[in-house]
Amino acid sequence: MKTYVPAFLQPLLHLLYPHYCEGCHTDLLIRESLLCSRCEFSLPATGYWDISGNPVEKIFRARLLVQAAAADYFFTQDSLLQHLMQSLKYKNLPEAGRWLGKKMGYALQKTDRFTSIDCIIPLPLHPKKEFIRGYNQAQLIAEGISEVWQKPIIQNAVIRNQFTRTQTHENRNSRWNNMQGVFSVVQPVKLEHKHCLLVDDVITTGATLEACGNEILMVKGCSLSLAAAAYTAIQP
Ligand SMILES: [Zn+2]
Repeated sequence: MKTYVPAFLQPLLHLLYPHYCEGCHTDLLIRESLLCSRCEFSLPATGYWDISGNPVEKIFRARLLVQAAAADYFFTQDSLLQHLMQSLKYKNLPEAGRWLGKKMGYALQKTDRFTSIDCIIPLPLHPKKEFIRGYNQAQLIAEGISEVWQKPIIQNAVIRNQFTRTQTHENRNSRWNNMQGVFSVVQPVKLEHKHCLLVDDVITTGATLEACGNEILMVKGCSLSLAAAAYTAIQP
């Protein structure tokens, strides 16, 4: 929810409630949020939105029928982006999700590769995990996208069935086996004949998106595209 503050009161509000850049901790300007312009421009953009056959699409080749796929930034260890992602997932910084989503929304608006999308689906998180975290980070990213790009978010059509273990140290095959039956489409009528954009925070092996995407593609007349805030270029 946004609180409306008249423009003439904003300098006063800024003085009373100063906010700082998540990257360099300098005081943010009124028009800035989360990151200062310098830190924002330092984030490694992939430029994949306009590129057909980009490395994100290659991950899913022969595994999942996607119309288009892209991620906004490269994910690297010990980077500002990693800090944002970890803050989003583990340090209760939900605004990082909306901020990343809005950046994606602007990118999606500019390219013509995603124009036929009808709706946005955040990758579901297991309810227990969502309860512990307080939110689903993919949902926040989807909200940021929708705020800029004006495409509707479809909720609760797809659910996550199991509480999967943390998969960080598992290889691609065991991750894939773990993902079997994890997602179910429970309200297919909401998705019928729609081109769905499935959204997640980070793409690594793609196993989770693949499992969820395959369920979505079983709905009558459905087509699928993928978008993530970040992409881990080195495959484990
Ligand atoms: Zn900064």
